[in-house]
Amino acid sequence: AKPISLEKILFSQGFGTRRYCSDLVFADLVKVNGTLVQDPDERIATEGLVLNVEGQNWEYHEKAYIAFHKPANYECSHKTTHHPSVYSLLPPPFVERGLQCVGRLDFDTTGLLLISDDGQFIHKMTTPKKNIGKVYEITTPEPITQVQIDHLLNGVVLDDDPKPCFAAACQQLSENRLAMTIVEGRYHQVKRMMAAVGNHVAKLHRVEIGAYVMPADLKEGQWRWLYPEDLKQLS
Ligand code: URA
Repeated sequence: AKPISLEKILFSQGFGTRRYCSDLVFADLVKVNGTLVQDPDERIATEGLVLNVEGQNWEYHEKAYIAFHKPANYECSHKTTHHPSVYSLLPPPFVERGLQCVGRLDFDTTGLLLISDDGQFIHKMTTPKKNIGKVYEITTPEPITQVQIDHLLNGVVLDDDPKPCFAAACQQLSENRLAMTIVEGRYHQVKRMMAAVGNHVAKLHRVEIGAYVMPADLKEGQWRWLYPEDLKQLS
């Protein structure tokens, strides 16, 4: 990639308007790979670039792909109705550069959420044609029966679509816990499937998308960059 002016780089990463970004540089608030740079027009190579802006390190990523551990009681939208937004838990530059959730989780669902500003990636990950598996851990108030599991695997019809939806896989974890894989992403799909087989979702937690498993050390409310080797797991 060709070197880019520092001002453009800061702007592309979501640090504010072009004017604001050049002012950050003039105010001696920006380091490039550990070295203070005072000219916003200086051309910078972007490979492996680490900025430091107002004392905070920031990896340069042309497009952002992140994994986020969503806590309960946050909504996956910018304009929320009843709960705070997941975006309020992310660094402001992410919001500024327009990161979007790759498919939404309900406000009370926890777990793995992908967030990106790459429109093609978001489309690829959310189109039903791609059949990307998503694994949910479901906790139910009633014991889960084999009859219910067979019903989920054989397909259940939800009230808004005559086409049945299927669990691609089910693994019972305990009497009241089930890991279920689905490939579509219909509205409240898991909750409605469980209701359709006569049980109920008390807690819902997403642990896996494609072959990407939520890292065990990623705590609720935390995020991390996804690198090319992580993205490979998603396709
Ligand atoms: N299915 C649901 O019912 N809710 C979610 O948040 C995700 C899948």
